[in-house]
Amino acid sequence: MGQEKRITLTDGAGGEKMMAFIRRFVLANFGGDAGEIPLGMLDDSAIIEGIAFTTDSYVVKPLFFPGGNIGSLAISGTVNDLSVMGATPVALSCSLILSDGFPLDDLDKILHTMKDYAKMADVSVVTGDTKVVEKSALEGIFINTSGIGKRSQFLDDNINVVRESRKFSYNWPNDSAVAEGDKIIVSGTVGDHGVALLSFREGYGFESKIKSDARPLNHMIAKALKIGGITAMKDATRGGVANALNEWAEKSKVGIIVEEDRIPFNDAVLSACEMLGIDPLEIGNEGKVLIAVVPQLADDVLKALKKTDEGREAAIIGEASKKYRGVAMKTSVGGLRIVEPPVGDPVPRIC
Ligand code: MG
Repeated sequence: MGQEKRITLTDGAGGEKMMAFIRRFVLANFGGDAGEIPLGMLDDSAIIEGIAFTTDSYVVKPLFFPGGNIGSLAISGTVNDLSVMGATPVALSCSLILSDGFPLDDLDKILHTMKDYAKMADVSVVTGDTKVVEKSALEGIFINTSGIGKRSQFLDDNINVVRESRKFSYNWPNDSAVAEGDKIIVSGTVGDHGVALLSFREGYGFESKIKSDARPLNHMIAKALKIGGITAMKDATRGGVANALNEWAEKSKVGIIVEEDRIPFNDAVLSACEMLGIDPLEIGNEGKVLIAVVPQLADDVLKALKKTDEGREAAIIGEASKKYRGVAMKTSVGGLRIVEPPVGDPVPRIC
């Protein structure tokens, strides 16, 4: 008798195995062509009837960590998934699933954080739901937030600027729109959120120097869009920069080359990754975005980012190039390394 097949943790871990799972189970049932950017494009939000629409569930462990809590993630993550489509976030939903006996003081703190972060992002939570389940079904709290975003004049202007330099058939920046020559910018230091959580959870001690970077990036992104020429943006969450760049390379059918020396890292993140044998490029971020921009405007977009608090450590780290397949990296010692998409998640339950 064959063994019954069951879901495993890696099916939800954000890497290649999860992509296979999504194709087999989710797209097989829902992968229709509804929308300008439909579900099947697996982008950060769908675009339908001119509206950006996204949803995300938060299951982070522990609920409170250096630099934030599950509430800061729940607002930032959804705001950022809308923002990277070039959309202006308008409103969010908040769905709470709580276990019987969850401390009300903790709930208060989490919801207060959500209120503060929503204010920071200028979005309102306008609808929601609350469920309480028995302790055996859940330990603590899970939160789901969905969000909608709309077009803006500066998104229209941004697309027009792209069209001055090349043929561009999309009306929104997206994962499939990167082209040869586009410069790749990262908005700040890479790996902070995942390493802060891992270190705090396991008691490695790096968390005194590294905090989660979870924060809404919509205001910073709006400043970059106002310069124009942006073809794609992606928040490098689960699977980190390695996964995000590989998604671009695959969907846009173009190679990407980055230079290790140009990627901004917090020293403590590098030390932690070295000690733990994990690749900082595969670690999830919650407050960093990758931006692809036409080459003529890369320096101006970078300048605009650097003027913001969220983007002051932004850097141009590479470019799209047909000379490479997938994602390659010029290493600090002068070699060339293929950057593979992570198979699973080196640090589970970080968002
Ligand atoms: Mg995303």
